[in-house]
Amino acid sequence: MFHSQTALWREQQRIAAHESAHCIARFACGLSIDHVSIVGRLEGYRTINGVVIGGAADDDERGDFSRIVVLVAGSIGEEVFLSEGTGLRGSDRRKALRYAERLASNSNAISLLIRAAEVEAEAILRQHELAFRNLVETLLARSRLTGQQVLEVIGQSI
Ligand SMILES: [Zn+2]
Repeated sequence: MFHSQTALWREQQRIAAHESAHCIARFACGLSIDHVSIVGRLEGYRTINGVVIGGAADDDERGDFSRIVVLVAGSIGEEVFLSEGTGLRGSDRRKALRYAERLASNSNAISLLIRAAEVEAEAILRQHELAFRNLVETLLARSRLTGQQVLEVIGQSI
């Protein structure tokens, strides 16, 4: 099996951009962050590339649209950072659709809600682009950050 070092590095960048974007969106939506990691791990038969764990109880205090924005931000972050992305998929896609289905029943309306959340997520990442890029670099260097460390990187970028 041949792996190009360049391809592996690009995959690490994609994962770091994805998870950092979830963090920036949580920050912009006023949701807390417990920690973020880009250390891969096995969960059942699936490989989890990275994860953002939020604070314990605050998600329920936010509207469904904010939650969709946070979920779609990962794939939008890949596009903003690498100019190409893998698209909304996996658990991000499943959860975003579940929240959208609470706001609308018509499938066209659900698609529009997802698209609107993607537009909002991109606007958030552009607004906090320096913090976003600094967070990606920090995450690539250290692989795991506490919520406090994430806030420090964001604070230093403003
Ligand atoms: Zn994600």
